[in-house]
Amino acid sequence: METYMPPRSIGMKSEQLALLSVMSHKMRTDPEIGKLLKPAKSVAKGIVEQRNLYLMQKGYDESTKMPEKLVEQLAKQQAIATSAWKSAKAAKNFSIFKPELEKMVELNREVADILMKVNKAKTPYDALIDSFEPKMTADAIDLVFADLRKDLMSLIERCQSAKKPDTSILRVTVPTGAQKDISTMLAQALGYDVTSPNSGGRIDETEHPFTTGMYDDVRITTHYHQDNFTDSVFSVLHETGHALYEQGMNPTWKFQPVGTACSYGIHESQSRFMENIVGRSKEFWTYQLPKIKDIASPSLDDLELDQFMRAVNIVNPSKIRIEADEVTYNLHVIIRFQIEKGLFNGKINVSELPQIWNEMYEEYLDVKIENDSEGVLQDTHWASGLFGYFPSYSLGNIYSGQIFSKISRDQPDWKAKLSVGDLSGIKSWLSQNVYMNANLYDPADLIKKITGTGLNAKPFVNYLRAKYGELYGF
Ligand code: ZN
Repeated sequence: METYMPPRSIGMKSEQLALLSVMSHKMRTDPEIGKLLKPAKSVAKGIVEQRNLYLMQKGYDESTKMPEKLVEQLAKQQAIATSAWKSAKAAKNFSIFKPELEKMVELNREVADILMKVNKAKTPYDALIDSFEPKMTADAIDLVFADLRKDLMSLIERCQSAKKPDTSILRVTVPTGAQKDISTMLAQALGYDVTSPNSGGRIDETEHPFTTGMYDDVRITTHYHQDNFTDSVFSVLHETGHALYEQGMNPTWKFQPVGTACSYGIHESQSRFMENIVGRSKEFWTYQLPKIKDIASPSLDDLELDQFMRAVNIVNPSKIRIEADEVTYNLHVIIRFQIEKGLFNGKINVSELPQIWNEMYEEYLDVKIENDSEGVLQDTHWASGLFGYFPSYSLGNIYSGQIFSKISRDQPDWKAKLSVGDLSGIKSWLSQNVYMNANLYDPADLIKKITGTGLNAKPFVNYLRAKYGELYGF
């Protein structure tokens, strides 16, 4: 649908999808399931069976408690709000989007009230967060985000006062054909097979890159800009991280609830680990840079490793989240988290959003938002009714820091091995600790099991300080 669908088929495809979603909702809420779950639970043996039944019960309760009318209203409002958001963004005018966003927030308050009862969440916003990061709460996030914000702001200040890297070297023209070959080479290097006769993956093109599928059929997309080749390089590394997770889950759990992703945050920890911790490290490029230079020759013949490392690790506070660097990115997320929390505890009204947004961008990132399009209208999430999703982006970064710290203790030479192109050590570590566990635990329990501690931003901050201290010389 996203890569090859001819434009005219959108109407027909939408009707097919609507039918499928009604059919699957009917199947998932069949009273027979409710009747079967109870006796099944009483005879369940071992943690896998128990987890499967727990996840089935949770899904069943959430679906059955949701009135069909509300589900339908939400689906319709999502289409209307997304269309209004597009017009508003083009016109750089929030007021076009405002009435539809208000309705969307209202509907999500109803959803949150229902989910609060089902999942025994403390607040409506907690109930929404639970859909993306089970059992996580706004209070717990607040606690780690407060320290993270302080640490990041002081790190950004140090980077800002150091000499700025030269990024013009990344603006050379690399033909799309060569970029496609680079994408394939990097995916293969990370162990995401897109070329062999029995491969379970492929790379296609869309405006916004994403990963879809599970187990034997996991596909990623990217986009190619001739004068910005690193854009596809890092989006491929990111999506490959997602893809490896989906392909690497315990095969005996295929088609079972336990054989699905643990949470959005854990998913994002895998993509950010490959994109940033591996993919923006000097060791990785010591081995891979000569290879991509070879593929792109003569375009990148003058590119040197140290120059490249500084350029792809530039720290520069900006207005747009999806263009943000590894350090400033989390401040964009913290702003959205604070705003969502305010929207759902009644402290912020939709009409105040542009002003609050702009003020927070000045306070957190010291940038001046000139219009709504580069401000409050930049993301599509709220138009789609996705509230509580944003924190998972930063939770992913925080988890990736915790994972980095544990891998470094378990395999002190893992980074040295990257510089000879050997990823086998970390691949087997991630497989055993993250991929294979799939949805056997809630995210907080999984992180504790893997690293020995709960949610903790310190390892991530320490990783950033060490890396940027070396790059920027402080
Ligand atoms: Zn991602």
